[in-house]
Amino acid sequence: MRGQFHTDGIMDRNYWIFSALLTLLVTCNLLSGQAWADPMVYVVQSGDALSSLARRYNVTVQQIRDWNQLDGDLIRIGQQLTIHPERGSRRRTGSSRSSSTVHTVQPGDRLSQIARSYDVSVADLVAWNRGLDPDRIRVGQEIRIQRQGREVRRITYEVQPGDFVARIARRHHVSINDIVRWNDGLDPDRIRIGQQLVIYVEGPEQPSRSVGRANAGRLVNGEQLPGHRGYRIRDRDRAWATNETVRYILGGFDTVLRVHPRAHRVAVHDLSRERGGPMRGHRSHQSGRDADFAYYQRRCSGGTCPVRRVRPDNLDVETQWTLFSHWIRHDQVQYMFVDYSLQRVLYEYARDQGATASQLDEWFQYPHGRNTARGIIRHQRNHADHVHVRFTCSDDDDECR
Ligand SMILES: [Zn+2]
Repeated sequence: MRGQFHTDGIMDRNYWIFSALLTLLVTCNLLSGQAWADPMVYVVQSGDALSSLARRYNVTVQQIRDWNQLDGDLIRIGQQLTIHPERGSRRRTGSSRSSSTVHTVQPGDRLSQIARSYDVSVADLVAWNRGLDPDRIRVGQEIRIQRQGREVRRITYEVQPGDFVARIARRHHVSINDIVRWNDGLDPDRIRIGQQLVIYVEGPEQPSRSVGRANAGRLVNGEQLPGHRGYRIRDRDRAWATNETVRYILGGFDTVLRVHPRAHRVAVHDLSRERGGPMRGHRSHQSGRDADFAYYQRRCSGGTCPVRRVRPDNLDVETQWTLFSHWIRHDQVQYMFVDYSLQRVLYEYARDQGATASQLDEWFQYPHGRNTARGIIRHQRNHADHVHVRFTCSDDDDECR
């Protein structure tokens, strides 16, 4: 008899949870109020893979296969794919404030740069903007950027010493015009320290939190690093991180493949565990902001560069610097631990690419010696076979140190 009651209790509870979930689902659907938009036609670019397209449009690889009657993963440059971004099953329920952003063309803008800054392709921009001629854009022209299916959340950003609006915009992947639009009456040339700015950033409704320090912290609502053509993950159970860390890593490797379509993959070793905390073999990696990557090497058999000791003449400096400079220029990294022996070739390459003396000084510990506490790129023991990257805290994460 008691057993019977017990079972009933569970059934009652299950029923209650079930109906609550159902109500939630229905409510979310009503709230998001989506109208099925027309499918888009995407023209395959060099470097594209089904997996990266799936991620970009928040759909699954299988959905893209189904919509285009594809059997495998093979796609070719110029091929047209039908995609229904709003039907993505990877879309999580939550608020989607806006489905598109407008970029107003600034003096000196080129379409390829605009595409890069929004992590989309030129072909996307052409598809989203009727009559857009990639070779002829004019200052003041408005270009629509689709953000369908992605969740957006509102944060309040407090202006820090040394900030300027362009930098804040770059760091949050929005345009200066967006920030002006979201903050009534803002004069972008006159912001003051401590001023609060409203910014809408992409990310889930329940954002991740990096709590405490990287060597004594934890991770809440972490996200697992998805696959990417640019890297190979050693252990998915040790590939958890904050939403921002994941976004920064994907953006970095997207850029690498855009600039170097034939780049090898690199091995990704550990990030953090699902809930962070201590992890065997690492002192830090506890709060979802650390990641270890193999170096890009001139010779890597099998297409993936492994974690192994690299000498300066075997470092693929061009590709490595593309990755590093993406993160540095977007203010996404706090530190990168790189053996001192490898810093010089990177430094000289960055200089040859036009980095100024003050940029070099800000970015590199070299040539001041391996024991000096300076530079984003600095020496730590045991980093001749991999680079350890500490990504920045997100601005609305007060518990992150
Ligand atoms: Zn590490």
